[in-house]
Amino acid sequence: MRLATELLTAADTRATRLRPCRSALGVAGHCALYAPVMALPIVHNPNYNADLPRDHRFPIGKFRRLAEILMEDGLVAPGGFHVPAPASANWVALAHDRTYVDQVFDGSVPPKIAREIGFPMNETVAMRARCAVAGTLLTARLALEHGIACNTAGGSHHARKQHGAGFCVFNDVGVALGVLRADAEIERALIVDCDVHQGDGTADIFHDDPEVFTFSMHAEKNYPVRKVPSDLDIGLPDGTGDTDYLDILSANLPGLIDRHRPDIVFYNAGVDPHHADRLGRLALSDAGLQARDRLVIETVREAGLPVVCVIGGGYSTDIEALARRHAGLHHVAAEFV
Ligand SMILES: [Zn+2]
Repeated sequence: MRLATELLTAADTRATRLRPCRSALGVAGHCALYAPVMALPIVHNPNYNADLPRDHRFPIGKFRRLAEILMEDGLVAPGGFHVPAPASANWVALAHDRTYVDQVFDGSVPPKIAREIGFPMNETVAMRARCAVAGTLLTARLALEHGIACNTAGGSHHARKQHGAGFCVFNDVGVALGVLRADAEIERALIVDCDVHQGDGTADIFHDDPEVFTFSMHAEKNYPVRKVPSDLDIGLPDGTGDTDYLDILSANLPGLIDRHRPDIVFYNAGVDPHHADRLGRLALSDAGLQARDRLVIETVREAGLPVVCVIGGGYSTDIEALARRHAGLHHVAAEFV
């Protein structure tokens, strides 16, 4: 087992496989001399950016900026994103009650539920949720094909079977798994949820489902107050930092994979455990978050399993810093293609 200190320095020592690029790959106005051997499959839809009131506390602008950063950093060539079409109601109903699905699709979500979600339930918010769900499904299919793939949204883990909550309209991982299993593409799955909030909606959807193992590692005193038990919950004390966090994660993850033997692993890489996050209570650094991403992806890939990465939560008001923090996941994932 690698120690946390080793994981924290691995970013500097891991050789990124690059080769000279003969054609001038113009990215954001400059010519890249090098390009990755095989591009990391990255999924994005411009509709991830819904219309919210200017002063809304959800940092919706991070999705557009994340996509720009991934192009600026050369992880995606212009036009290189895999673009999902919006999910159908039939797909979404594989994870959610049909009544709620129809309410979202036809704009009739009751005010009480809309308040619990925290978004004005307008057309763009519904479209964003449909695209994010389809995006995580597309990411999963790309991961089955290539071993790893990343969405630029997803991780809406507070949406439970009956309805959404906590900035989550539809549970993208829940729906993606519903479709993959309905189409017999996989049977068993492990969900590794490292967002700072407990994955109550995911736990609710897969409660009593022996083929899907739900693992949530979160700040114990954070939202949601009433947690729905996952198959494994690790609630961390406030202020947990890089070393303790990585030691606990590395002590638990390999055993889960060995015991559950999934066909696929979904990884919620929320950046809200960061010390500067408004809604987190932990104290991870940027290097710590990337070491965490590397630990999860490396463990899953060394077990020979596909890993589906979704970005999860992140609530800094500084959109630039926040989007760059989310991009850390894609940079780490690109080391594994
Ligand atoms: Zn969160």
